[in-house]
Amino acid sequence: MNELKRCAHCGAEAMAETSISGQGWHVKCPGCRVSTGWRKTKAEAIADWNRRADGWVKCSERMPTKKDGDTFGRVVAAGPTGTWALEWWAIPESIATRWCKLPEAPEDEP
Ligand SMILES: [Zn+2]
Repeated sequence: MNELKRCAHCGAEAMAETSISGQGWHVKCPGCRVSTGWRKTKAEAIADWNRRADGWVKCSERMPTKKDGDTFGRVVAAGPTGTWALEWWAIPESIATRWCKLPEAPEDEP
């Protein structure tokens, strides 16, 4: 319970912190400094952090292939300096550490 996943960007161990005023929590990575927004409770901050990491594939484990491109069309790449939506073949290994399928566009409400 309340277990933090490793950073989706750099793989470092993340930490939950309370704000100086003690009125909120966030989870941040000491390695690349990405963080969640401030949440009311520690559990909410941890849930946000862990949800963000879902579905990401480490570039060091597997780079996207042409088959992924045909299947997904586009993928999202992320690294310490940002997140980009890219064509499947265009992930720069030097700056991206993870990738995942681009989410489906939301269906318009009737
Ligand atoms: Zn990190």
